[in-house]
Amino acid sequence: MGLSSTQQEAERGILLTTVDKMTRWAQKSSVWPATFGLACCAIEMMSVTSSRYDLARFGSEAFRASPRQADLMIVAGRVSQKMAPVLRTIWEQMPEPKWVISMGACASSGGVFDNYAIIQGVDHVVPVDVYVPGCPPTPEALMFGILKLREKIQMGLPPKYLELTQGGAS
Ligand code: SF4
Repeated sequence: MGLSSTQQEAERGILLTTVDKMTRWAQKSSVWPATFGLACCAIEMMSVTSSRYDLARFGSEAFRASPRQADLMIVAGRVSQKMAPVLRTIWEQMPEPKWVISMGACASSGGVFDNYAIIQGVDHVVPVDVYVPGCPPTPEALMFGILKLREKIQMGLPPKYLELTQGGAS
């Protein structure tokens, strides 16, 4: 017996849309950061996994020692010229899709370190999805940034590096 028209409709569109939403929900609920800290901001980053802040509520407490197992890079601290190629290599080793949060004034703009040794914004090295302001940002601010990233994923917005390679807005 053939499928009813409703079943055919479901097979053509509704089911696929549902799978798409489910995939986004799964992705946003299991964003795993790379274990990677550069300066004082990293102390605030580390505290988000503590019982006081409990990042596990959002499925992102599993900081991974290997970039192969991480899909989020939190750039927590100033990026020196010497560290930039290392940071880029770690980012390239992360599987796709992947996202970047720039945490704090130093990572986003060099902060107070307006000198030749510090990169004046990590977006010169890797594409950034979310910027978290502050010096240092509080753990709550970082968590707010992670929640914003989750919103972007749930809405189906592409990671920044895809947006750039596909010719979208910079
Ligand atoms: S933004 Fe402030 S707290 Fe963060 S790395 Fe720079 S100086 Fe340190």
